[in-house]
Amino acid sequence: MTTIADNIAQVRSRIHAAEQAAQRAAGSVQLLAVSKTKPAQALREAYAAGLRDFGENYLQEALGKQAELTDLPLIWHFIGPIQSNKTRAIAEHFDWVHSVDRLKIAQRLSEQRPAELPPLNICIQVNVSGEASKSGCTPTDLPALAKAIAALPCLKLRGLMAIPEPTDDRAEQDAAFAAVQRLQASLDLPLDTLSMGMSHDLESAITQGATWVRIGTALFGARDYGQTPN
Ligand SMILES: *Cc1c(COP(=O)(O)O)cnc(C)c1O
Repeated sequence: MTTIADNIAQVRSRIHAAEQAAQRAAGSVQLLAVSKTKPAQALREAYAAGLRDFGENYLQEALGKQAELTDLPLIWHFIGPIQSNKTRAIAEHFDWVHSVDRLKIAQRLSEQRPAELPPLNICIQVNVSGEASKSGCTPTDLPALAKAIAALPCLKLRGLMAIPEPTDDRAEQDAAFAAVQRLQASLDLPLDTLSMGMSHDLESAITQGATWVRIGTALFGARDYGQTPN
């Protein structure tokens, strides 16, 4: 039986190989463990094997795990779609939000970020797959949105996030991730983060400049959505 620790070692070696293939520095890509639908015990195992950053999509589920894991110094990333009525709890309980795609949500996160906490790290989710995806701002709307978010006091705009339409075609993966990197470069802002690449396409994303890969299945196994919260 493979354990979470085995899976982490395997994903780390994929990341390392991709960094080398892209002639990028070892350690330039960070691993975000996507733990949605997985129990707190799985996060404990991943922590014991060295992971600190965890990504969650569903607020109530995430808050439950956070309450069970207060003894561990974990860094929490919100990566799912955001409704307005969830912004306060997200601003209070997370360190990063990767899935901001409209100004109203960013404004609420900034207003609701507790003063004693450091600025909330933000990635703007951008849609590079056209009508195939409903989440993410359009490339056309991105420059104005980025400029407005960068000016909000309690947020720190770090970069872009994307979830391209899934494909096994490496050239198509590369093209989508390259488009995200170009959009990032076209913004006249000091950004250091590209959150892109999942279990099936992390190699391509790393070639195109990813700094966070968000990995669920390859670490924790397939997800059972039988009783998804929210
Ligand atoms: C579920 C999810 C992932 C992880 O996907 P895997 O294919 O399981 O690695 C990454 N990013 C987001 C936004 C997700 O919702």
